[in-house]
Amino acid sequence: MFLGVLGSVSAHGKNKLPNAPPPAALHPAASTSPRGFAQSELMSGHLIDFFVPFLPLEYRHVKLCARDAYTARGLQTDEATLDEVAKAMLYVPKERSRSPLRAANCAMDHVLNIADSYIFTPYVYPASWSEEGALRQIVSLWLVTILGAVLLFLGCGALNFYYVFDHKLMMHPLFLKNQVKQEIELSIISIFWMSFPTVAIFFWEVQGNSRLFDNISESSLGWPGVFLSIAGFLFFTDMCIYWIHRFLHHKSTYKHLHKQHHIFKIPTPFASHAFHPLDGFLQSLPYHIYPFIFPLHKAVYLSLFVFVNIWTISIHDGDYRIPGP
Ligand SMILES: [Zn+2]
Repeated sequence: MFLGVLGSVSAHGKNKLPNAPPPAALHPAASTSPRGFAQSELMSGHLIDFFVPFLPLEYRHVKLCARDAYTARGLQTDEATLDEVAKAMLYVPKERSRSPLRAANCAMDHVLNIADSYIFTPYVYPASWSEEGALRQIVSLWLVTILGAVLLFLGCGALNFYYVFDHKLMMHPLFLKNQVKQEIELSIISIFWMSFPTVAIFFWEVQGNSRLFDNISESSLGWPGVFLSIAGFLFFTDMCIYWIHRFLHHKSTYKHLHKQHHIFKIPTPFASHAFHPLDGFLQSLPYHIYPFIFPLHKAVYLSLFVFVNIWTISIHDGDYRIPGP
């Protein structure tokens, strides 16, 4: 019955408890008494089915629900008590509890889980909004993508600008008035518009359509395969971006898409993401496409994804020489 209820209830539904047990049933003594929590009225009377109708049943969910139940009854509680209640619970095996929407082979799943655990579930969304809901996942992915991209761009850009970039370049005659401001504005606008198709790809990935894997044992070549995939990823993406860049410099496309980027003749690190949104998205496509074609370890993918962003910033840090006087 427990599994049945878990399989059929998709909302947290903490406000629709038809048979709320008396407060005593939740008291920590229930788990330390000779009978123990597992034999308490909560379990024996199947009241737990109504009490924790979560999908999936996870440790932190049980703790959140138990805390709510205590609070609703005006009882004091603490972390130790909540841990005790949560530990006494039987947990559905991970595979059983996973929704098809959160398949195993996706990297953004890790990111979503962390964001859900620490931010979204406790502080952002109403408890009735299931973590498995497609709309909630899309909104979460969008927030994570746009915040991550802006923070990475501004953070790495600023570090690079202050510690690596040669500020004498700003005296160059081709350096534009208010150029840094223009670069940052164009980058933020581009990141905003690029985030929509990017999130569509991440959502497609979260649904389990990519070839990303979790364990080295899943790679037919083991560790050498992981190193090979790093080389393959860099080769594939660099080659594709070369051809995309050539396409962007073609006379039929240049003035519409790519010219915006090259108005910054003496770029600062902040020019790294200063593209027309479609230009930026086209140049990021190879990074998204690779894990749908080739197998790749999730941790390697996330690391490479951050690495290429930092690398993009560093190639714009001005390895130029001001012509002599
Ligand atoms: Zn170019």
